[in-house]
Parts: sequence; C-alpha cells; structure tokens
Amino acid sequence: MRIVYFDICAIVLSVTVLVFLLVKHYTKDRTNCLIITLSALIIASAAMDLFDSMFGTYIPQSQSNAGIQFVSNTIFYIIRHLTTPAYVLFLFSFMGIWHKLKQQKIFALWIILPAAGIILSIIWNIFSGKIFYISRDGVYTRGGYIGIIYFWSAFHLLLILYMVIKFRRTVRKSEMFMIFAFAPFNILAIFVQRIFIGLRLETLAMALTLFLIATVIQRPEEMVDSIVGTLSQNAYLKDMYKSYSVGRPMNAVLVKIRNYQALRTNLGPEIYGTTLKRVSDKLRQMGRIINLYTDVYYVERGVYAIIADGDKFDKMQDLGRLIVAYLKESFTLGNLEIRLNSTVCLCRLPEDLASYNTLINFTSSFYRTLPEADKLILLSDIMNSKDFMMKNEIDDIIKKGISGNRFEMYYQPIYSVKQDRFVSAEALIRLQDEKYGFVSPAIFIPAAEASGAIHDIGDFVLEDVCRFIHTPQFLKSGLEYIEINLSVTQCIEPRLVEKIRGLISKYQVRTNQINLEITETAVDYDPVITDNNIFSLWNMGFRFSLDDYGTGYSNIKRVVSLPLDIIKFDKSFVDEMDDPKMWIAIVNTVNMLKRMNKKILVEGVEDKRTLDRFRDLGCDYIQGFYFSKPLNENDFIEFVNQKNSEKAS
Ligand code: C2E
Ligand code: MG
Ligand code: MG
Repeated sequence: MRIVYFDICAIVLSVTVLVFLLVKHYTKDRTNCLIITLSALIIASAAMDLFDSMFGTYIPQSQSNAGIQFVSNTIFYIIRHLTTPAYVLFLFSFMGIWHKLKQQKIFALWIILPAAGIILSIIWNIFSGKIFYISRDGVYTRGGYIGIIYFWSAFHLLLILYMVIKFRRTVRKSEMFMIFAFAPFNILAIFVQRIFIGLRLETLAMALTLFLIATVIQRPEEMVDSIVGTLSQNAYLKDMYKSYSVGRPMNAVLVKIRNYQALRTNLGPEIYGTTLKRVSDKLRQMGRIINLYTDVYYVERGVYAIIADGDKFDKMQDLGRLIVAYLKESFTLGNLEIRLNSTVCLCRLPEDLASYNTLINFTSSFYRTLPEADKLILLSDIMNSKDFMMKNEIDDIIKKGISGNRFEMYYQPIYSVKQDRFVSAEALIRLQDEKYGFVSPAIFIPAAEASGAIHDIGDFVLEDVCRFIHTPQFLKSGLEYIEINLSVTQCIEPRLVEKIRGLISKYQVRTNQINLEITETAVDYDPVITDNNIFSLWNMGFRFSLDDYGTGYSNIKRVVSLPLDIIKFDKSFVDEMDDPKMWIAIVNTVNMLKRMNKKILVEGVEDKRTLDRFRDLGCDYIQGFYFSKPLNENDFIEFVNQKNSEKAS
C-alpha cells in the first residue's frame, strides 16, 4: 500500500505556487517562466504518482487495469525525471549564465544527452520491462535496471554541483543554501523511497524545492515592478551583477523618459503608472515583433533598460530605432494626450561600460551626459567625445578644481535704468580644468549639488566675493552691491547664517553690499530651513533676489511671502517676448510685481531692441551680453569705471 498524502501535499504546495505566480502575472522573464514550467511538471508528476498510488490502495489491482497502470507509470517516470533538467535550466537563467549554454556547448549536451537517456530508457522499458513492470495481476514491481534512470539523473545533479561551485559569485549566500538544498532534499527522498516503497516522498521534495525558490530565492515581488509590469530595479541590479561577474556579453538599450517628473505631477500617480506600463508593454512587444529575446527592466525615475545577448547588436539597433520612433509619437490615455520626451542609448556591455558599477552609475545619469537627440545614440560613437567624457568625469574635475584652486569669480555688470549707470554685478563662478579647459557652471553646479561638493564651492564664492568687495578698486568704483547665487543646497544649510556673518566681519563688508540670489526650487525644497536662513539674513540687512523667474513652477504664495527685493526675469522668458501672448503675460507680470513693490531685473538681454522694450515697460535693471559678458575682476572694474565715467561726462 502506498501513502498518498505526500503526493497530495506536493500537489497542494505546487498548485499554490503556480496560482500565486500566475495571479500576480509573474510571467515576464525567462526565469519566472522556467519556475512556472517547473511547477507545472511537479504538479503533473505528483498527479500521476497519486493516480498510480490509487491502484492497490483505493482501487483493487487487477489484470483489467494493468494497462492503464503501465501507461500512467510510464508518463510519471518521464515527467518526474524531466523536472531535474528543467531545474538545471532554471539555475542557468537564475544565475545569469544562460548565455553559457550557447557559448559552451558542453553544458547544453550535458543537459540534453542524459534527458534523452531518460526518455530512451523508459521507451526501452515499454518493451523490456527492465525498469518497472506491472505484473499480470496488476501489481507494480521495480525491475532490476531501475538504477539506469538515477544514473542519468546523476549527470544533472553533478551539473548542479559544478554550477554552484563554479558560479557561486553570482548568488548571495542565502540563495546558495536554497539552491544547494535541492540536491540533499532530493537524494534523501530518493533513498527513503527506495527503502520504503510506499512512502511517496520524491515529488514532495521537488515541491518543497519549488516553494523555497518561489519564496526565498526568486521572491517575485522583489523581481517584478508591480506598477510598470516589468522586471524591477532590484532584478536589474541583481541580474547585471551576475552578468558582469561571469563576463556575459550583452547589449543594452537604455531609455529615459525625460519629462517623467512633469508627467507624474500633472497626471497624478494612477495615470502616470498606466503611462509607464503602456510604454513597458510596448517595449516588450517591439522585441517580439523583431524576433529578439529581451529582458525589460524598469530601473527608476523614468529609466527603462532592455537587455539582450551580446551577439544581437544589429537587432538591438533595430529595436532602439523602433523605440525612438514610438516614443516620438504622442498617444492618448482616456481623453488625455500624452507626449513623452526621451533619450535612447544603445551600449555594448562590457566593452562600453567596463564594470558593474560603471553601468549602474551610467544607468542613473546617462540622460545628463548624453546630448539631446531625437535618434538612437550609440554610446560607442560618442564615448570619446570631449563633452561626454567631461560630464562623466565631472566629479573628479570638481575635486581637482577645489584642491588645485582652479575656480575664479567673474562678474557680469548690471545696469540700472533709473540711474543710467552700472550699479552692481552678478558674481558667476568659472572653472578652468587642465584637461578640458573651461567647464560651464551649468554643468558643474548641478553635479556639485548632487555630490555635496557645492558646500566647498559655495564657501569659496562667498569668501572670494567678500574679499573683492573689500578691495580698494571695488570701493572706488561706485558699485553698490554684488549679487551672489545661493544654490539649493546652501539655502538649506543650517550653518549658512553663521558662515556669512563670519565672512562679512572678516572682510568688513556691509550687508547692503551683498544681494543673495535664490531660485524658486530652493524656496520649495525645504521651506522651513530656507525660511529661517532667509529671514535671519534679511534681518541682518541682506537683500534677496529671486533668480530665473518665469521658469519651472512658480509658487506665487511663497514668492509673495518671502522678503524678495528683486525679481530676475529668466532669459527663456525674455526670448519669447515676440509671442503676443507671452508679451501679455510679461506686461501683466511686470504690473503685478510693481504693485507689490518689487524691483525687476531682466536677464539675457542681447540687443538694443530687447533693452528698449523692457526699459519702456518700466523694468529697473538690465543684465546681458548687450552690455557685457561676465568678466574677470580686473576687466570688470575697468569696464565699470570706463562706462560709468562715459555716462557721467
Ligand atoms: P544664472 O544665475 O541665471 O546666471 C545667468 C547666466 O546667464 C550666466 O551663465 C550668464 O553668463 C548667462 N547670461 C547672462 N547674460 C546673457 C545673455 O545675454 N545671453 C546668454 N546667452 N547668456 C547670458 P553662467 O555663468 O554660465 O551660469 C549658469 C548658471 O550657473 C547660473 O545661472 C547659476 O544658476 C549657476 N551659477 C553660476 N555661478 C554660480 C555660483 O557662483 N554659485 C551658484 N550656486 N551657482 C552659480
Ligand atoms: Mg543668478
Ligand atoms: Mg538667472
């Protein structure tokens, strides 16, 4: 008599896993599909085993059902013994070494030949009855050659052992334990079942292994992004780590939805999620259309990564172009029209990005280092360009700039309409790098804010401007004050007030000789500390300007509540003055700000026509290339002295 409860347990366990995987739609990549195949095989073999066990337990064994028993046992043997090679395939995929199956044919042969051996042995058994047979009275009996099946399975077990040792670096320690648990579990079950023939433990052992895989190793919720419906960031990090550690050649198409943040703010989380999902479905579908196997990951903040094997460069190039074409078109969601703005880049790994860390850094920053283009960018084409290398090395460039004193302050004159002379200047930082020459602050300031180097840079700016204000040339020039840009990070620095207090006393600078420029982003970033800093400095006598007005999102309420003396119109706002609607906005903004007693400075004035229009509108200050580009300290003083004396005479 056979004990059937173990089979029932095995079925319940593996059906639970299967249903869980299917309900949660964890069917997206090869590894998940292999787990599903494995569950299906285990369920089928446990069901066949259960069916066989009925005979002699609940159904009397007899000659009449001997045929059925033989067929069902044959099917059971085949399915049961194919679960091991299926597990081996799962491991290849899970450990990120699938490509080895193609590269080193021995692996594929080592799986296929024993699997074929199993099937052929069972076919041979149909004629010989040497593995098992059903006696005339319907009783199942093991034949003398049953060991053949285990002989073939041993090849698969050996392969598992080899993989676990050779590619151990691709998995975590806890995972290693689970993977390895497969072997003792199953070997033990086989022995128990050999000795106690009625104890049907083999399928239960497989079901338990499956359960462990699904819950511990391949935690689906970790691997799949439930909103976007692709593999997750976690899966990306893990898979890429594995792939790099075994030297797997790959091609990667990286996609950044540049306007993801605006979409999230404007569309709300639900429609934003649907948009991301819509894109990911399309990305997968495009791979299928051109017959290319890809893994699609949603990495973070509007970044997708699509990975294919290393020998698929041409197809990946086709895929990249299809993606660019797709993302250029707008699409509708309900009654909304959605327009995406993207950067798409194709890289060969590991040639273009040599290490795992480089890849991960590149994935999160590539859209900043690549030129904006509405075509597929091949990383290999631009990686040697000066601009790309500079942006990639920006953190080092900044560090060297700080340690080698390579920063210098430039001053762009500011013209007062009312006084008809130059009364102040904006201090703008310049960095001269040994290798790259002039590096724009528009590049290094955001990078320094991200890396934290902005504190050192900000300190340098404050100190150098104070030193300059203290020089006799400045004091003689008749200039009233200097505008200093405060970055977002400086605005939320708790020690900002102390620092500035120390510097003005060191250089004997009066508070009305400095005007601090803040941006709307800073105002919104951390209102509490920013407010504290601003009000403390204002109480000390410093004045504030709001920089880049007209870009980004204007929080009118906070703009009104802060003590801002000057509002600086951004160049992009000014550039559109010929658009009649924009002009209406400009005129009314000027009126509104004037009624609030704010002074208006117009930035980016490059010609006389613009100067005249804004002067006639009643704006107070003008800054721009029309008068002068930013100049170094000496040239600036010379410029102001000369121009102001010309105007006076
Ligand atoms: P910003 O504060 O809005 O500075 C004005 C920028 O516009 C400067 O660019 C200036 O050279 C440029 N500009 C002025 N007039 C014209 C014009 O007529 N035409 C054109 N095309 N451009 C004009 P710059 O010096 O490259 O600085 C870029 C940004 O970098 C600045 O924008 C500011 O946000 C940041 N930055 C510069 N220096 C500092 C600094 O010392 N500290 C901080 N935190 N940020 C700085
Ligand atoms: Mg500024
Ligand atoms: Mg500005």
